[in-house]
Amino acid sequence: MNLALLLARSAQAFPHLPAVALGGCVLHDYAALAERSARLAAGLRDGLGLMPRQRVALVMKNCPQYVELLFACWHAGLCAVPVNAKLHPRELAFIFQDADASACFVKADRVEAVVSAQAGATALQHVIDVGDDAYAALLRHAPLATAAIGPDDLAWLFYTSGTTGKPKGVMLTHGNLLAMTQAYFADVDAIAPGDAILHAAPMSHGSGLYVLPHVAQAACNVVPASGGFDEAEIFALLLAHRGVTLFAAPTMVKRLVAYAGSAKPDSANLKTIVYGGGPMYAADCKTAMHTFGCKLAQIYGQGESPMTITAMGRALHADSAHPRYEQRLASVGRPFAGIEVRVADAEDSPLPTGEIGEVLVRGATVMAGYLNQPEASAQTLRGGWLHTGDVGFFDGEGFLTLRDRSKDVIISGGSNIYPREVEEVLLRHPAVAEASVVGAPDAEWGEVVEAFVVPRPGAIIEPAELDALCLDHIARFKRPKRYVFLDALPKNATGKVLKTELR
Ligand code: AMP
Repeated sequence: MNLALLLARSAQAFPHLPAVALGGCVLHDYAALAERSARLAAGLRDGLGLMPRQRVALVMKNCPQYVELLFACWHAGLCAVPVNAKLHPRELAFIFQDADASACFVKADRVEAVVSAQAGATALQHVIDVGDDAYAALLRHAPLATAAIGPDDLAWLFYTSGTTGKPKGVMLTHGNLLAMTQAYFADVDAIAPGDAILHAAPMSHGSGLYVLPHVAQAACNVVPASGGFDEAEIFALLLAHRGVTLFAAPTMVKRLVAYAGSAKPDSANLKTIVYGGGPMYAADCKTAMHTFGCKLAQIYGQGESPMTITAMGRALHADSAHPRYEQRLASVGRPFAGIEVRVADAEDSPLPTGEIGEVLVRGATVMAGYLNQPEASAQTLRGGWLHTGDVGFFDGEGFLTLRDRSKDVIISGGSNIYPREVEEVLLRHPAVAEASVVGAPDAEWGEVVEAFVVPRPGAIIEPAELDALCLDHIARFKRPKRYVFLDALPKNATGKVLKTELR
């Protein structure tokens, strides 16, 4: 089934419900959004002469046009290539060329960067500023019939954030994204027509995927006027929309909690904060629940199986009387219905409960492979299982706890040290705002633990205090040998700590 049908069906059933809003102002209802997408689809095919399966890049920070363009691409049988709008022209050129993009939609602030990247992108014929007449002209085409494409046709080329090496184009098919949409309803959260999704995280990555389940249920896509994450703006928008879901990386959740603590805004219209994309420390999770109530849901996924490896819905977060509540909160939840997840050793043999190994995934959400990288694809998908590169273990109830990415595990004197375990301890110190732990090369031990710590504003922390805390909670050999105090941790556009830079 073509993903474009999700929009067509919502428009049929709920034509007058709001579909896209900029800040507090509704721009299009479902009937209008479907009509605009069908017209744009005709513009792409007849106006620009694109053929089904060609690629269309989107280099735009969050904006209302994101939603209609994604659906226009699918309607026309084209594959969308959402790109992080903050990239350097050189990085843009790499992606355009790798994706063989024929057209690119851009916002005014990045036109210059895209045009300079065009020189290195042989197939890129059309660069269209969504604020220009050329865009308006595409919308004047008569609506196109939905293209007939199969479940294996590409819908979204999802470029990895490239914290190591060049980004890879994850090939996500219509079948993958449809399975992801259904999985959301089964295990993350229910959505009712008239609810809303607030796109404060980048739509080129995390938040863009949330367009799908929300359009499928006729919820409103709310794009903040700032195009990004601003605590005050988010709480202001909660007054204008109801039943609001927000996807936030753990660092964003912390910022929301800090803001709510001081400004005491009204968050009655907040329905769910879905967090994921990086480790959420149990202490931070509890503070967030204390601030917002039982409105948290967690997902663990990666571009290669978007949003869909394990989940922990609101009910599990709320079950604080459960004897294993603490362990559950420190986990990433249980596998999605319909998705197989196992923990395996280096030979890919499944490991028993409690043993630590690599997380493998099999199911309808797993990518078709990496574009133009047959070897990396074969390696990552060997034996029919996605090798996530994440390390973790299952408990007896089927909850998965992640340790770290295999490359982040520190090996000191032959013992494995999982950075997250040390970070959880450092974060217990009331003056520690953020902490990240890496392995530093050491002649005697191979690697030693080095901790990067961000103190809360105005606080001074003595390494000896942190040392004592570690000795209280974890084995002596896991203690950081060095502490470095920073004002902030280096992070990429999606809020992931760049351990490569710390190293
Ligand atoms: P990306 O493909 O950029 O979304 O990055 C995916 C990676 O982020 C995963 O392989 C994990 O290492 C990490 N990640 C995603 N969700 C979670 C989560 N809920 N808890 C801990 N780490 C996560």
